[in-house]
Amino acid sequence: MTDLKSMNPAEMAAYFKELGEPAFRAGQVFQWLHRGARSFDEMTNLSKSLREKLKSSCTLCPPQVERRQVSALDGTIKYLWRLGDGNCIETVLMRYHHGNTVCISSQVGCRMGCAFCASTLGGKVRDLTAAEMLDQVLFTQLDSGLPVSNIVLMGIGEPLDNFDAVLRFLELVNSPEGLNIGMRHISLSTCGPTEKIDKLAEYQLQLTLSVSLHAPDDETRSRIMPVNRGVGVEQLFAACRRYFEKTGRRISYEYAMIDGVNDADWQADLLARHLKGTHGHVNLIPLNNVAESPLKPSRRVAAFQQRLESHGIPTTVRRKLGGDIDASCGQLRRKRLQEQQAGQAE
Ligand code: SAH
Repeated sequence: MTDLKSMNPAEMAAYFKELGEPAFRAGQVFQWLHRGARSFDEMTNLSKSLREKLKSSCTLCPPQVERRQVSALDGTIKYLWRLGDGNCIETVLMRYHHGNTVCISSQVGCRMGCAFCASTLGGKVRDLTAAEMLDQVLFTQLDSGLPVSNIVLMGIGEPLDNFDAVLRFLELVNSPEGLNIGMRHISLSTCGPTEKIDKLAEYQLQLTLSVSLHAPDDETRSRIMPVNRGVGVEQLFAACRRYFEKTGRRISYEYAMIDGVNDADWQADLLARHLKGTHGHVNLIPLNNVAESPLKPSRRVAAFQQRLESHGIPTTVRRKLGGDIDASCGQLRRKRLQEQQAGQAE
């Protein structure tokens, strides 16, 4: 079966040409798909015979809402979607004054193994297709009735570990015939496989790259982030410098504050030394508690921020949204999996 929705306009044109259809058909179908059509039967400006042909040769399997949680505190909405093959992924819609932001997943699970993250606890099941990433934006928008102006790839999965599909998704969502969301309204968060950062730099995209750093020294970073083992912080910063030089885009560094692990003054000093002259910006994240993890939130967020700022490093502290709805990183999917396992055991 053909995954039409993951095709860009040129590929779709080639596909319809092969079917012996006029070129404008490709444009019509692209528009239907990118407006969130749920079936080929909805595409009423296509002939009945073409719709039947597409039905028999193409997949169109929109995600179903498995669970929807709305925060009473700030209106954040968390979706647990059931995909065509029964796997579940999460999407979060956050309401900021600069517009609604949707946080999407790039994989079912994750193989990166970060010690503080709920998404990686069961490993990676599979990569998402470009269409499955696009669907998260489309159907979050349609279900909530809220227009989305910004996208962050910060949900379940490591986007650079699903490189080709993520790049294709960016092309689709950026397409003028589709959602037309500008690259500058998109952030991609990565735990930092250096060769993939170099590969991404080649495309010179105007998106914001967020690097999940979480520790400035190899001993700590390798302990909590296996991706660091064998590569090291020096090489990561070297790749980040190359990225900045190639794209001209400043990098934002994510730093989840963990009690007694990465929140000491010397670590703030070392971080500042690494970042001097890089134009980087640090985003401190209060750690979200993950039940399975012994790591606890730091009580030194303000002190750490002050210390970084005293070295001239621009630093923000992430505001916590959706604190009442398990809105972070794989927690809802995990809960669902546990319920299913408990159900099978009964
Ligand atoms: N794999 C990508 C994107 C997904 S995680 C990455 O690593 O960047 C999105 C962000 O949430 C990352 O910065 C990640 O390190 C952070 N994160 C994961 N678990 C967290 C937790 N329990 N508390 C705070 N931040 C967490």
